[in-house]
Amino acid sequence: MKTQVKALVVGGGAVGTSIAYHLARAGWDDVMLLERDELTSGSTWHAAGLLPYFNMSYATTHIHDYSIKFYKTLEEETGLNAGFAVVGNLRMAQTDERMDEYMLYASTAETCGVPYTFMTPDEVKAKWPLIKTDDLKGALYHQTDGYINPADVTMAMAKGARQRGVAIERKWQADAFHWNGAAWEVTVTKMVEKGGNLVPSDEQVVITAEHVVTASGNHAQRTAKMLGIKMPAIPVEHTFIVMDQDPELVKWRADGNPEHPVVRDADNESYAREERGGWILGIYERGAPARFEYGVPDSFRADLFPLDLDRIADQYMAMADRVPSCADSGLKDDFNGPICYTPDGNPLVGPAPGLRNMWLAEGFSFGITAAGGTGYYLAQMMVEGEAEIDMASLDPKRYGDWMTTEYAARKNEEAYEHVYILHHPDEERPACRPFRTSPAYDRQAARGAQFGHVNGWERPNYFAPLGFNDHDSRSFRRGGWWQHAVDEAKAIREGVGLIDATAFTKHLVKGPGATAFLDWFTCNKLPSVGRINLTYALTINGTTRTEYTIVRLAQDEYYLVSAGAWTAYDSDFLRKAIADKTPEFGYVECHDVTTQWGVFAIAGPRSRDVLKEVIKDADPETVLSNKRFPWLTMRNIELGMVPVRAIRVAYTGELGWELHHPIEMQNHLFDLLEKAGEKHGMKLVGARAQNWLRQEKSYRAFGNELGRDATPLEADLPRFVDLSKDFHGKDAMQAHGIRSKCVTLLIDGPDDADPWGREVLYHGDTRVGRLTSGGYSVAFGKSIGMGYVKPDIAVVGTKLKVKMFDQLWAAEVVEDSPYDPKNATIRVDG
Ligand SMILES: Cc1cc2nc3c(=O)[nH]c(=O)nc-3n(C[C@H](O)[C@H](O)[C@H](O)COP(=O)(O)OP(=O)(O)OC[C@H]3O[C@@H](n4cnc5c(N)ncnc54)[C@H](O)[C@@H]3O)c2cc1C
Repeated sequence: MKTQVKALVVGGGAVGTSIAYHLARAGWDDVMLLERDELTSGSTWHAAGLLPYFNMSYATTHIHDYSIKFYKTLEEETGLNAGFAVVGNLRMAQTDERMDEYMLYASTAETCGVPYTFMTPDEVKAKWPLIKTDDLKGALYHQTDGYINPADVTMAMAKGARQRGVAIERKWQADAFHWNGAAWEVTVTKMVEKGGNLVPSDEQVVITAEHVVTASGNHAQRTAKMLGIKMPAIPVEHTFIVMDQDPELVKWRADGNPEHPVVRDADNESYAREERGGWILGIYERGAPARFEYGVPDSFRADLFPLDLDRIADQYMAMADRVPSCADSGLKDDFNGPICYTPDGNPLVGPAPGLRNMWLAEGFSFGITAAGGTGYYLAQMMVEGEAEIDMASLDPKRYGDWMTTEYAARKNEEAYEHVYILHHPDEERPACRPFRTSPAYDRQAARGAQFGHVNGWERPNYFAPLGFNDHDSRSFRRGGWWQHAVDEAKAIREGVGLIDATAFTKHLVKGPGATAFLDWFTCNKLPSVGRINLTYALTINGTTRTEYTIVRLAQDEYYLVSAGAWTAYDSDFLRKAIADKTPEFGYVECHDVTTQWGVFAIAGPRSRDVLKEVIKDADPETVLSNKRFPWLTMRNIELGMVPVRAIRVAYTGELGWELHHPIEMQNHLFDLLEKAGEKHGMKLVGARAQNWLRQEKSYRAFGNELGRDATPLEADLPRFVDLSKDFHGKDAMQAHGIRSKCVTLLIDGPDDADPWGREVLYHGDTRVGRLTSGGYSVAFGKSIGMGYVKPDIAVVGTKLKVKMFDQLWAAEVVEDSPYDPKNATIRVDG
């Protein structure tokens, strides 16, 4: 066994094997894969092997798309047939809402070029007469996917990996990880059989590896503990059953008919595919428990849990109704195994928090589908520094240290049972809430706040009369909440509104090296003391890693504000960069002060009037004037008794201030502002209205327009890039040129719907890009969106089309900041 390698991959399931294969294919010739038992002996061996394209995320669609195409090439490369049956995938809808969901999904899939067809119930019946269709509204058919044999595809990838020089060591368990400053020293133990269990022997070896990847499946909690980090990857029970032969299905095939597609009966929470004249029925039921929160016992190897027939009885009966010819088929076999989940259902792929050269690939619930693409894109990240797609939505650091075992287990159970619910874009999931609340939570709730969930925080989405039912108001079109958001957006454009922005990520960066460090770390000029700037930290690939509002508090002291959802993600990047650069720039301190500061954003033409009521100053009339408090500056002010770090910016594009305050004084400040705002008609405003308003100003949002697949120049933000200085990622950014460009669109969409920001864009009959944001504009009285298109058509006045509900709707590229392009209202004096 080698004891020195470039990369050590821990875990020989589908995911780890694909990563080892792709690292070798990307040119690393010294890769070892370690498996504590046999390859595929984790969850991989008992997967049903379905390869569904369906998901609502751009990054995941790319990953699944790569896998499906890659698996089709494996036989030619390795000579091993992985049993890929390209039978297609039929998703049936029993309701109009389900069809709306499929149409939104199809538009997203089309942004990645995934083919699909909509079918009427009659068309389904004509093609597959065994399926009952009289309760259907329609179906979505993917002709290019199907299912594969999970063990065979893993073995094919393992053979391909070996052919490319990867060493695969079975019956060795990684037991301890030590970073020696340059490489990982991984203690591995020979595993032996003992009474049917797999137990560690006394034989141990230390392997030195420059990089380590963990793909430990159900053992993620043990891995996390060894690494001293948190990972919300905990398995849940998942069942599929194999039914006895269905006589009519047998006859159907004997008559020379092709195999049925994978049949997804989403409204009945199940999927089915043919298996030797019978059906495999897989179920996403309610009440499936989380497992192995504290580790996998030695006795659980390639094992299963007992079948809980009561739990899946409804779906079993529904299958007999959907395919009546199988009603008398008995139960032949059952597979109730652990399927790893995370709270949002996406895996954890990317650099581990706080650690160097440690990469995670954990928490896969669609691991057979995702393995190929994960291997490909993770290898890009490891070998080249970045992947060609933005992997942020899979990054392990989207969960912070606030996450606990109990939280992850309950959220994972929820993610599991939500697989087949309607995936409303305005969905908010209820488990483990409220959890992270700002002090004003109760006051806001009492005033009708309907909260959203951001990185664990509760943040008002909108305010509605008490008793309003958010759940029932959700829709793929304009939901019941829409009018409330319209009223709130108007309040900010015409009067004054107060937004709780406490969830913002906040860092304090200071010390003798801080200025030189931040000047290198971010692409815009640093502000002078008392001023603020919008700026970007780039990836090594020149794309946007993080957006910061930087406030310069003192010569070498900066307050950095970034997106609320990304605290650990931003912290990790900042801290690692500081550690790397301290020898060059000198000592820099970095503190995550997110939970120390509350933030209220007050905005609207009357915001100054409200603040004047409560500000303490020798001359309250002038203290907020343009002269004493210009736009894009920071002042320490006192509102009543509360010391406030006030920043004159407004993400809504209206006259306004962000009021950063000691979090323990939040309720005092809330009461003060609410009272002062009464006579000015101040309205409490939520995140949905804010999201619409910022699009009228073309303010890019992190995670939408801003991410690791576009440079700030492609985001069309040259005014925030100082090309006269050197900064991290500059050369790569310039080398990319402009591959696609961010634009703002006004859209003549359907009367009852706005785009969500995932839809495909057309120019004539040609697919030219995608929306990254969408919503409603109160200023223009129509839908609005932002997105990326090919640069030659990113020209004001270009007529485009947005695909919504399977139809193309007119849209026009408008100038940046279509509302108040000269920023007159923001700068208004008073
Ligand atoms: C009933 C059922 C049906 C499913 N159907 C589908 C489907 O149709 N399509 C789909 O895409 N997915 C499906 N899945 C999910 C799929 O099985 C998993 O997502 C996938 O197998 C995960 O692969 P993995 O490589 O991440 O983990 P695993 O296959 O669990 O592999 C992890 C490996 O790491 C090894 N390991 C752990 N710790 C160590 C260590 N310290 N040292 C060395 N080795 C270690 C383990 O022994 C194990 O072999 C299904 C799951 C279930 C339960």
